[in-house]
Amino acid sequence: MSKQGLVAILPGDGIGPEVVAQAVRVIESLNQQAGLGLVCEAAPVGGAAYDLHGHPLPPATLELARRADAILLGAVGGPAWEALPREHRPERALLSLRSELNLFANLRPAILFPELVGASTLKPEVVSGLNLMIVRELTGGIYFGQPRGIRIEADGTRTGFNTMVYHESEIRRIAESAFQIARLRDRRLCSVEKANVLEVSELWREIVIEVGRQYPDVQLSHMYIDNASMQLIKAPKQFDVIVTSNLFGDILSDAASMLTGSIGMLPSASLDAAGKGMYEPVHGSAPDIAGGDMANPLATILSVAMMLRSTFGQGGLADRVEQAVRMALAEGYRTRDIAGSQDRVVGTAAMGDAVLAALAR
Ligand code: NAD
Repeated sequence: MSKQGLVAILPGDGIGPEVVAQAVRVIESLNQQAGLGLVCEAAPVGGAAYDLHGHPLPPATLELARRADAILLGAVGGPAWEALPREHRPERALLSLRSELNLFANLRPAILFPELVGASTLKPEVVSGLNLMIVRELTGGIYFGQPRGIRIEADGTRTGFNTMVYHESEIRRIAESAFQIARLRDRRLCSVEKANVLEVSELWREIVIEVGRQYPDVQLSHMYIDNASMQLIKAPKQFDVIVTSNLFGDILSDAASMLTGSIGMLPSASLDAAGKGMYEPVHGSAPDIAGGDMANPLATILSVAMMLRSTFGQGGLADRVEQAVRMALAEGYRTRDIAGSQDRVVGTAAMGDAVLAALAR
């Protein structure tokens, strides 16, 4: 890379700093070995930022996130901050980063590594070779739609209500992202909605079909959310890329992540229209194991691979990182969360060492 890229490092809380430290070692190793040229600058976020500055997303952290080309985030939250008012809770920082930076496309791959096929709750023949990508709209839909609230009726009873709303421009941009991602994969895109019942889904389908005309090389299909949930468990390998709205994607991506058996293995990306992104493991801050050198750093290291591919256009280096993770697994390295009864268990730093050693080969 000729131009230096800036990565904002936001370790956060609990196991966040432990797993992010290993991912930063991977970036530094590629800087040295492959002339990657990324500069890492760290700032506090979440509970750690609240303790230091009285806010989960202090202005200096937001300013760094804006200035950076990409953000690598660990995890936020924990029991120490649960009683705080909503606007000061660590999780608030994530929502603010997403909306402030307009990170509307959430990418969650669900890949089952052959070495971990036994970790899935589904039969090996159903999941082995699984490699699907869920593209979820992240900044619109029912989570943000107005009006919303709980209304007191004339008779004193209460009615709760939310609004599922999408403007066609929001549908168009997430569809564009999904088609472009499908182009880099097996060129099959399944759009998931509920067009038989919801008008918002009717429009969703119409716009996705319209966008699809510019991608004749990608095979487009449509599925209702109820059927998609069933198919994801029954025959998940039929999918390549799924594109869906905020609410449906929230549910489907969690279900898909469990097909792979371990939350410690799953990376994610949230991107804006220009490819700037926030990259983070799917898991939380795991307070139960924080500080014990027990956390699996692979989801965060795989998030670096996504960053290299999606923000920095370094597909070759991304492949190398993923290959190094695969080699460490093939050599038998396992953190506690992915270990079978016969496996030798290593800690967070030792797993980082194993990936770095594989990367250097
Ligand atoms: P969690 O993902 O933190 O933990 C769930 C279980 O998985 C725990 O048993 C934990 O030990 C284990 N686990 C998680 N990541 C692991 C890893 N890398 N290696 C090994 N084991 C791992 O979910 P939770 O317990 O529901 O939430 C804990 C805190 O994290 C809460 O405060 C929650 O709000 C927050 N959270 C943050 C994010 C985020 O920052 N994106 C996401 C989810 C939850």
